[in-house]
Amino acid sequence: MTARIIDGNALSRDIRAQLRSRASQLASRGHQPGLAVVLVGDHAPSRIYVRNKVKACADVGVYSEVHEMPARATEGEILDRIRALNADPRIHGILVQLPLPKHVDEGRIVAAIAVEKDADGFHLHNVGSLVVGRPGQVPCTPAGCMAMLDHIGVELVGKEAVVVGRSNLVGKPMALLLLQRSATVTICTSKTHDLAAHTRRADVLVVATGKPRLVTGEMVKSGAVVLDVGINRMPDGTLVGDVDFDSVKEKAGWITPVPGGVGPMTITMLLANTIRAAEELRSN
Ligand code: NDP
Repeated sequence: MTARIIDGNALSRDIRAQLRSRASQLASRGHQPGLAVVLVGDHAPSRIYVRNKVKACADVGVYSEVHEMPARATEGEILDRIRALNADPRIHGILVQLPLPKHVDEGRIVAAIAVEKDADGFHLHNVGSLVVGRPGQVPCTPAGCMAMLDHIGVELVGKEAVVVGRSNLVGKPMALLLLQRSATVTICTSKTHDLAAHTRRADVLVVATGKPRLVTGEMVKSGAVVLDVGINRMPDGTLVGDVDFDSVKEKAGWITPVPGGVGPMTITMLLANTIRAAEELRSN
């Protein structure tokens, strides 16, 4: 079997077309959605991510502003900036680009973001909402993965779903979203004894480890849906995922490529979270 490709760029384009029209409806009533990104320090990859997010906002008609702060900024200064953004009526989504410098407590900073403006879905209130199945902002990468699963029309009820990786940003919220949809969910970590024994059972396999090509063809069930969250820059400059694309595509039913898979969906979900926050503010 050769897997069908889930094209994250094409799906993103379709979703963004809908988002553009929702943003323009809000703007026509004088409520253009707005996203503020707080960028602290000189972490080079963070600068690239922020630039891409700003470009994506412009693409769908979301107002955006970047608040650059020096690496030496104190926790108090960052908290002051967030409080000002919480109170700013032009801003509906606030995102603090992680990682923050070592001397800053990320948890305290994220906790200061107004729950309804938490565009990344990292605030503990939104995390709790996800755990108990209440509406709230959902982290962008797992939300993008769910949108891909819905796009290909995979039935999740009762299916074996295996998530490799348990980070707070990806693995855990991904597992919770699959559980909400009544999949039977297994979470694997670096401590899992026989990873392949778990991955081989998966009808839906989501891999988010940061370990290049960790999952190979012989670890995948025939016909499985495989979502590769990993983005790894190799010494020769190429990007590869956590899944060995060449061997897994011969076994899986569906697979996401890297690049052009989950990555573009993540930014699209950030736009969706910001626009939804603006819509909810207007409907209250
Ligand atoms: P983290 O480093 O926070 O978490 C990695 C997880 O993988 C940990 O839970 C770790 O287990 C687990 N793990 C590591 N090695 C193995 C192994 N050999 N077998 C099983 N589990 C393993 O990473 P993130 O979740 O933040 O990111 C994962 C990847 O996804 C990275 O490549 C990152 O760049 C990418 N990413 C991509 C995004 C996108 O938009 N496409 C967005 C966010 C991340 P343990 O807890 O035991 O250490």
